[in-house]
Amino acid sequence: MVSLAPAATPAHDRSDNSCEDDSLASLKDAGRSADSRRMVEKRSGLGLFAFYVVATLVPILALGVVLARTYREDLDEQGLHDAGEISSIVAEATVSPELSGDTLTNGLTAEERAGLVKSLEPILREGTALRLRLRDRVGHVVFDPERPNAAPFGPRNNEVVEALTGKDVRLRTHLNTDAADHARTAGTAAVEVYEPVRASTGSHFVGVMEIYVPYGPIARSIDQAYRSMTTLLAIGLLVLWALSGAITWSVTRKLRRSNAENRFLAKRDPLTRMANRFAIVEDVDANLRRLGVDHGMTVAILDIDGFTEINEVLGHANGDEFLRHVARIVQASAGRTGFTARIGADQFAIARATCSNPTMASVIRGIRNALLDELELDGVTLTAEFTVGFVDGDATVGASELLRRAGVACRAAKQVNAPVLSYEPSQEGFDADRLTLVAELRHAIDDGQLVLHYQPKVNAADGAVTSVEALVRWQHPTRGLLAPDVFVPAAESTELIIGLTDWVVDRACAQAAAWVALGMPLPIAVNVSARCLRDHEFADRMFATLRRHELSTDLIAIEITETAVIADPERAAATLRRLAERGMGVAIDDFGVGYTSLAHLDRLPITELKIDREFVSRMALGAGAGGDAVVRAVVSLGHGLGMTVVAEGVEDDATLSLLAEIGCDVAQGYAIARPAPAEVFEAWLHTRRAPAESAVSSPA
Ligand code: C2E
Ligand code: CA
Ligand code: CA
Repeated sequence: MVSLAPAATPAHDRSDNSCEDDSLASLKDAGRSADSRRMVEKRSGLGLFAFYVVATLVPILALGVVLARTYREDLDEQGLHDAGEISSIVAEATVSPELSGDTLTNGLTAEERAGLVKSLEPILREGTALRLRLRDRVGHVVFDPERPNAAPFGPRNNEVVEALTGKDVRLRTHLNTDAADHARTAGTAAVEVYEPVRASTGSHFVGVMEIYVPYGPIARSIDQAYRSMTTLLAIGLLVLWALSGAITWSVTRKLRRSNAENRFLAKRDPLTRMANRFAIVEDVDANLRRLGVDHGMTVAILDIDGFTEINEVLGHANGDEFLRHVARIVQASAGRTGFTARIGADQFAIARATCSNPTMASVIRGIRNALLDELELDGVTLTAEFTVGFVDGDATVGASELLRRAGVACRAAKQVNAPVLSYEPSQEGFDADRLTLVAELRHAIDDGQLVLHYQPKVNAADGAVTSVEALVRWQHPTRGLLAPDVFVPAAESTELIIGLTDWVVDRACAQAAAWVALGMPLPIAVNVSARCLRDHEFADRMFATLRRHELSTDLIAIEITETAVIADPERAAATLRRLAERGMGVAIDDFGVGYTSLAHLDRLPITELKIDREFVSRMALGAGAGGDAVVRAVVSLGHGLGMTVVAEGVEDDATLSLLAEIGCDVAQGYAIARPAPAEVFEAWLHTRRAPAESAVSSPA
C-alpha cells in the first residue's frame, strides 16, 4: 500500500512543466479534434443539403418544363381556335350573305362573284385573312379573289370533306403550300382553316371556305402570354423550391443540433453535467495515445464516504445538491489539464498526466480541504470525506483498465479504512478474500478462535501501569495467528463487527473481573467501531455485560476513532454520553490522522486523547529537529480540554523520556511491552513490580 505523497523536486518540476505543456497541448488537441469533428459534421451537413438542392431541383425543373410545354400546347391550340373563330365570322358575315345558290358545284353566278369580291376586299386588304377561296363540296376551287373569274380549278381536297363532316380542320401552315397553289414558294406563316359555308337562303352547307388567317399576330400574342406565364411559373417554382429548401435547411439544422445535443448528453452525467464514464475513457485513451509510452497518466477514483446517509437523512434533492457541490470542487481542483467525470452515484474520477504539476496528490489535498468547508443543506452542516484509489499507467494499459484498477484500489482503501491507496495487484481478489474471511469469522467467534492480547499503558513519568488495551487476534485454523488489521476492517464493513465487539467486551470484562479477584484491579480499554456507536442498544448490552461480571464501569474504557464519530455524530454522541454518564472512560484513538477539528470532540465526553503513533515515532528525530512539535501541541490541547493524553507506539526509551519531559501523561508501545496473552502480560507485570527489575522490559 502506497499512500499519495506530494513530491516536487526541481528536476521533477522541469519535466512537470514539459508534461504540463503536453497536457495542455493534449487538451488543445482534444479541443481541436472537437472543432474538426464539428467542421466535418457541418461539411457533411452541407453536403447533404447540396444533395438535397440537386435532388429537388431536377424534379422541379422537369415539372416546370412539363407545365410550360402543356401551356404552350394549350396556347397553340387557342391560337388555332382563334383563327377558327375569325374564319366562322368571315364565313357567316361576309361569304354566306353573297351566296344564293344551292351548291357551289356548278360555280358561282357573276353577281355572286362581284358581291364576294366586294365584300372580301377589305378583309384581304386589312390582312384579316391572307388568302381566301371557296371550294365546292369535293374541294375544287370555285372562287378565288385573286382570280375572281377563273373557272373551277385545283384537285379534290380531303380537308374539305372532313370539314363538311363536322371536324374542325385548322392547320398551321404557310401560304402557297396547297396543291391549288402549284408549288409557288412558301409564303407567310398562317393558319389554314376549312370552314363550311351556307348560302344566304339555305340551312345546309353549300361548300367550304378555305381561309389563311395570318399566324404572325396570333404567334405574337401566344409568345407574349407564354413568356409572362413561364416567367410567373419559373418565379413560383423557384419560390416554392427556395421555401422548401429553407424549411429543409432549418429542419436539418435543428436535427443536427438535437443530434449533437444527444451525443453530448450521451457522454454527460445529467446531474452534474460532468463527463461520464464513457467520455472519460474516450478522452483518457486519446490522451494516453498522444502521450505515448514515455508519459503516462494517473487515474484516481474518489468515493464519497457516507453518501447513502446524506441521501437517507436529508432526502434525494439535498443529496443531488451535495453531489453538485462535490462535482464543482472536483472540477475546479482538477484544473484545466485534468479530466474529470462522475462515474458512479458517489464516485468521481480524475485523470491527469502523471508528471503534471500540481501533482495528483496536491489536487486531492485541495479537494479534501475544499470539502472541509462546510456546506449547509436544510439547516444541516455537512463536511464531506472521501476515499481515494489511484493508479499510474500508459497507453499499453488503456483507460478502461486504469479506471478499473483505481476502483479496485479505492475499494481496498475503504476496506482497510485508509483515506488513500495506490493500486497493487494483490488487491485483486481482495473482495473474494474478504468475503471468505467474513464467512469464516462468523464461526470463529462461536468456535472460540478469537483471543485477546493485552498491552499496558504506563504513566510516562514513573512507569506505573495505569491500564491495558485489549487487542483482538484470530487463531485461524489454517492461517495461524491473524492480526486484527487482516480481519477487523472486513468485519467493520458488516454487522459482524457488533458480534465481535460484544465478544471482546465480554472477554475483557471477564479478564478485568479476574484481575480484581487477584487483587490487581486494572482498567481495560476495548476498541469500539463506528457501527457499534450507531447501535442504539450497544450501551445497554455493555452495561449488562458489566453487571454479569459484577464489574464497575470505571474498569472498562472504550477507544474510538475520530472517523467512527463522524460517520454519525448524533447517534455516536448519544451512545458515548450514556457510557460516560456511568463513569466509563472514552479515548479518541489514533488522534491526528483524522480530519475532524477538536471543536467536534469538545462536545463529546472524551476523557483520553491517544496521539497516533505516526507522530510519536517522529519524536525519535529528537526535540531539536522539531519532531516533537505535534505531540507538544496535542498534549497542551488535550490538557486544555481536561483530557489525559496518551502517546501510543512508543518504541524507544529516548521517546519515553522525552514524552515525560513534555508532560505527556501516559505511554504505550513496544518500548514498554508488546501486546501479549493475559498470562504473559501477568508474568511481565510481576517482574516489573519486583523491586529488583524495575527496568522496562518487553514480554514479547
Ligand atoms: P490500535 O487501536 O491503534 O491499536 C494499537 C496497535 O498498535 C496494535 O496493533 C498494537 O499492536 C500496535 N502497537 C502497540 N505498540 C506499538 C509500537 O510501539 N509500535 C508499533 N509499530 N505498533 C505498536 P494491532 O493489535 O495489530 O491492532 C491494530 C488495530 O486493530 C488497532 O489499532 C485497532 O484499531 C484494531 N483492533 C484491535 N483489536 C480490536 C478490537 O477488539 N476491536 C476493534 N474494533 N478493533 C480492534
Ligand atoms: Ca486502540
Ligand atoms: Ca491507536
